[in-house]
Amino acid sequence: MIKTPNGIKLSCKGWQQEGILRLLLNCIDPDIAKDPKNLIAYGGNGKVARDWDSFMAIMDSLLRLENDETLLIQSGKPVGVFESYEDAPRVIMAGSLIVPYWSDWNNFRKLEDKGLTCYGQSTAGSWAFIGAQGILQGTWETFYQLGKAYFNSDLTGKFVLTSGMGAMGSAQPLAATMNGASVLVVDVDRNAIKRSLIESFCDYMTEDIDEAISLIYDSIRKTEPISVGLLGNAAWVYPEILKRGIIPDVVTDQTPAHDLLSYVPLGADLRELDNMRVKEPERYVELSKESIAIQVQSMLEFQRNGTLVFDYGNNIRKQAYEAGIMDAFDIPSFVPLFIRPLFCEGRGPFRWIALSGDPEDIYRTDEVILKEFSDDEVLMKWIPQVEERIRFQGLPSRCCWMNYEERVRFGLIMNDMVRRGILKSPIAITRDHLDSGSVASPYRETEGMMDGSDAIADWPVLNALLNASSGASLVGLYGGGGVGIGYSIHSGMTIVADGDASTDERLSRVLNNDPGLGIIRHADAGYEKAKDIAVKLLKPVMG
Ligand code: NAD
Repeated sequence: MIKTPNGIKLSCKGWQQEGILRLLLNCIDPDIAKDPKNLIAYGGNGKVARDWDSFMAIMDSLLRLENDETLLIQSGKPVGVFESYEDAPRVIMAGSLIVPYWSDWNNFRKLEDKGLTCYGQSTAGSWAFIGAQGILQGTWETFYQLGKAYFNSDLTGKFVLTSGMGAMGSAQPLAATMNGASVLVVDVDRNAIKRSLIESFCDYMTEDIDEAISLIYDSIRKTEPISVGLLGNAAWVYPEILKRGIIPDVVTDQTPAHDLLSYVPLGADLRELDNMRVKEPERYVELSKESIAIQVQSMLEFQRNGTLVFDYGNNIRKQAYEAGIMDAFDIPSFVPLFIRPLFCEGRGPFRWIALSGDPEDIYRTDEVILKEFSDDEVLMKWIPQVEERIRFQGLPSRCCWMNYEERVRFGLIMNDMVRRGILKSPIAITRDHLDSGSVASPYRETEGMMDGSDAIADWPVLNALLNASSGASLVGLYGGGGVGIGYSIHSGMTIVADGDASTDERLSRVLNNDPGLGIIRHADAGYEKAKDIAVKLLKPVMG
């Protein structure tokens, strides 16, 4: 297994390439990745490269890449090095994209079997995955905003039911308890729950549904948050909870329902299912659909009984709809419920990684946030909690949601810290693809847009083109992601703050333009908040 290099010694011909290479290796660091041997970082089968030959060729190309060249990656395979110029991206990618008419899982799998593509999820394909913290922060932010919007900013004594403790879903127990809730998380895989216990993401594990419920009720009575991992299938547990007349305050789900071959259906043991997945994939898919239908019917029943139920970005409603649950879309997605107002101000998941490998570099940046952004109440809550509760995985990193003005200010401060030697080596600045202007995803980020522009995919394309012309170090455009092939197009970007004075200009362009486009996108859709900000801070032309 390859360990990510760190320190100040360069293996590449510049920090831009070096930063990208370290991020790629970081994504398959054994401490971070779901299945590093198969190059899978997270999210079902989200891969960093098409295969090991491609991976090695990418490494080799990055090591040789000149400071005025650009490496092109097509769905995890390096295809060519082109002459560009110093401020151009060192890496440009496109991944998991299929011409719309053919863009579905069936065609994707046929093309994948022929070795022509691979699934990059979001930050796996763009090498910006940072392990548990990334999703913990996003999940924490979601629960925080949920509390603010529906529970008077307080989830204390509230019962949250959810499922899936995989790479993304494992953040749910900790994110919910950090917000004060009592949370029951269902997973079919004992090892997934055990990993969460070891990481202290989850407090308790049981195989007994009644014990799980009693632990939750105890914690609600004592108003002491608890997370309980229940070994079981969500399609069995959700109806069982209903049968007991129990109505949680919040219900959601983070099983890998976007991919019917990753979701685990009812009715067979895991080994038998592993065999079926390979030998009889059609039968497996049918079983998954049946189980998802049962699970979503229960979610709808909870909703009818007053529970706040939401889809957490895994396309479970669409799968259920196709399995005959015609009212599956009565369940709203989390974005229109709590996240869109943040997108309107260009607020989204910003992250940075210490290429030195030294945690002290991140602690120095935390200090800056606490001092410089003290009027941002969410940041003031998040930073102390994350420092206390999260250990670094792979290269030390930090993430938090920042708005349009904060991102550029902070990026320039970090570049200055690198320049003055306050940080030991450069910092890679990147973000999730679930951002204000970087995604078209009608069942998630762009669901229910005010002007009906949910499926307009021009925006992420414009975002990638704008970031490339602004001077990001890596830019990419991808299909699929959390909701699966055919359901979203999104773009990723990374920029390395190497301390150079000329990088100030690049940072300023990229960190203004990237979220700026998000504000313009929402202003164009008619959101007043975005319109106000656009008129004040940007140069909107129409709309
Ligand atoms: P993963 O493959 O790492 O883990 C999934 C977990 O679900 C596994 O532990 C598995 O055992 C469990 N599971 C599968 N079927 C189950 C069932 N029927 N009942 C109970 N447990 C079951 O996936 P992940 O990275 O955790 O991602 C989960 C989902 O969330 C994916 O669909 C992903 O695309 C989506 N996602 C959402 C967001 C977001 O922003 N909300 C972001 C990224 C990914």
